[in-house]
Amino acid sequence: MTTDTIAAISTPIGEGGIGIVRVSGPDAFAVAARVFRAKSGRPISGQRSHTVRFGTIADEGEEVDQALATVFRGPNSYTGEDTVELSTHGGPVPLRRTLDLLLRAGARLAGPGEFTQRAFMNGKLDLAQAEAVIDSIRAKSDAGLKVAIRQLEGVLSRRVTAARDSLLSVCAAVEASTDFPDEVPEPDRPQLILQTGHVLDEVNRLLATADSGRVYREGVSCAIVGRPNVGKSSLLNALLRDARAIVTEVPGTTRDVIEESVTLGGVAIRLLDTAGLRDSEDTVERIGVERTHAAMADADVLMVVLDASTPLTREDEQALDEARGRPAVVVLNKSDLRQFLVGADVTVRLPHAEVVSASMATGAGLPEVEMALAKVVLDGKMAPQDVTVSRARHVASLSGARNALEAVLATLRGDWPLDLVAQDLQIAARHLGEIGGQTASERIIQEIFARFCVGK
Ligand code: GDP
Repeated sequence: MTTDTIAAISTPIGEGGIGIVRVSGPDAFAVAARVFRAKSGRPISGQRSHTVRFGTIADEGEEVDQALATVFRGPNSYTGEDTVELSTHGGPVPLRRTLDLLLRAGARLAGPGEFTQRAFMNGKLDLAQAEAVIDSIRAKSDAGLKVAIRQLEGVLSRRVTAARDSLLSVCAAVEASTDFPDEVPEPDRPQLILQTGHVLDEVNRLLATADSGRVYREGVSCAIVGRPNVGKSSLLNALLRDARAIVTEVPGTTRDVIEESVTLGGVAIRLLDTAGLRDSEDTVERIGVERTHAAMADADVLMVVLDASTPLTREDEQALDEARGRPAVVVLNKSDLRQFLVGADVTVRLPHAEVVSASMATGAGLPEVEMALAKVVLDGKMAPQDVTVSRARHVASLSGARNALEAVLATLRGDWPLDLVAQDLQIAARHLGEIGGQTASERIIQEIFARFCVGK
């Protein structure tokens, strides 16, 4: 049970048209009333739920700012408690002053994610939905937002809950007969196998969406690699239609790793422009090359850039070798000049790579580069489904459930005694319950909310 009233600034710090300070808890109306005076003179305590009033934020009679007070009466609020949102002018000073006044009036400063944690405690959201709140705030693409909003609506939670309920009923039947063997007859094994098999199928269906789920939620990273002067920065700039990377004719000027994001095919792609691969005596440049290797090792996808107006060099061959066995796009750049390289020169070394001829000087082939990149990134992954599992935590729980369910089926099919399956059924049900939070440990719950920002 929560007994205190919390307050925090819920909009980002900085200048904006409006900013919101939120107060939630049993004394929310009393606390807000000490700080906000409606122009009409009527008190917040009498204000109807889901209505807004205009007035002032006042500090002992001195007007601090004009404001709107929106009242939500529990349980019909985000947190499930009485809540007031004070909308002031969106500057750090009015927001800070309003928050300070609320704290002096009896509220406590909310911890990170505490509003959402209260919503969870009060049964307004389950854990997967609470996670979807952060995912929607941090969505990196339209598709990522879609995945988060579907999860926030409870689509994943409902599917997992239904599977868990079905498992718990199998569990109850098994336990009744093993606990009271004389009174309760053993349940029909083929029936148990069928029911458990249905749950396993559902778990597998959910797991099958996880690969694309991660890509849509987190995006992927793509390192642009190649020796100096082949046109890596020009390519990055063309992809960004932006001029952040410095384009120059001196080899090896892009010494650090530059990171920019684009969205292709609904996926956020972090493009890393690397220092270029070359053997160098220069210390600064060597550091850049080391970073290039680190970025290459971490990247989900490699984009190898070659200068097609020159034959392959040893450094080009090294870059191609590094891409072997990895998702890769090879760009044969400078197609506007006399050509010394053709696609076949690359495909003999990298049969699986997408090879595209392009010119960053004229822009020719750029759409093909984007298409190839989207193809490699998505690699047959499905577009966001109705339910898309997007978090490693959910994948871990579903995998745990799958393993336990497979053990249950093996025991049932092997005609082993029934009490051997009860424990695995419990384990599977516990794993499924972790996703919505019914069986998640206090530590996991704390960890999840600690990742929220204050005010959410
Ligand atoms: P990086 O060192 O690999 O990042 O290469 P840059 O993007 O800095 O390009 C090196 C030089 O090649 C610059 O002078 C670019 O203008 C030039 N360049 C890049 N792409 C092309 C192209 O498609 N055709 C021609 N002719 N020149 C290009």
